Amino acid sequence: MVFHVLTIFPEFFQGPFGHGVVARAGQTGALQIRIHNLRDWTFDRHKTVDDRPFGGGEGMLLKAEPVFLAVESILGERRAEQRVVLLSAQGRLFQQAVAERLAGYAELLLICGRYEGVDERVAEHLADEELSIGDYVLSGGELAAAVVIDAVARLLPGVLGNEASAVRESFSASGEGGLLLDCPQYTRPADLRGWKVPEVLLSGHHEAIRRWRRDAAREKTRRLRPDLLQLRKQEHESPIVEEVC
Ligand code: SAM
Repeated sequence: MVFHVLTIFPEFFQGPFGHGVVARAGQTGALQIRIHNLRDWTFDRHKTVDDRPFGGGEGMLLKAEPVFLAVESILGERRAEQRVVLLSAQGRLFQQAVAERLAGYAELLLICGRYEGVDERVAEHLADEELSIGDYVLSGGELAAAVVIDAVARLLPGVLGNEASAVRESFSASGEGGLLLDCPQYTRPADLRGWKVPEVLLSGHHEAIRRWRRDAAREKTRRLRPDLLQLRKQEHESPIVEEVC
């Protein structure tokens, strides 16, 4: 999959994509990340990308023209397997199910806003969708783009060492636990300052471990994210029968 990022701060991405699974996936060719500087599509001496909002008001907006020109030249003639996303606090919430859907495209182009946002015609006539990573306002779309790329990348074939690990993680709709949080996990030492790892995890009894994880995932979801259980009830209608985390 090819990820394109359109930004006025290309250097921002040296950090987020320089480490871990995403960096490794870039080296093995499982994905490509191409960072594009919006100023490359401006034609004045100052490479101006922003202007004042019509009607007055605080701050500046990213102009629509350079964004249109950039997207058109990066993607060429639009194809169904391409998706253009505008990062925006006003967008639909980016959730695991959205990451799973976006992972099905061959090319994903993320537009990072700045200042007071982006001329609305980008949302209306260029972007396929507007996504928000949460109900808070960031200073720019770059952090949000890094979040989206990381979440989508780990779902792509060949990116995680163990393909099963993305399936049984928190929020995964496709895992057997469907829409629950992941279960609590522990590593050595088995006794840390008197806080002991649950006995069953040391037992080697696979069926008992599976049952404990299922129940612990459900309990943690109930305690921290009861809204997920509600959602799950609405989506499945039928009671939970069997799931493993
Ligand atoms: N005036 C806008 C509003 O109130 O909705 C906020 C603009 S924000 C300061 C500048 C840019 O940061 C936005 O254009 C968007 O690209 C990005 N941004 C801010 N919050 C975001 C969020 N929660 N999710 C995704 N992108 C966000």
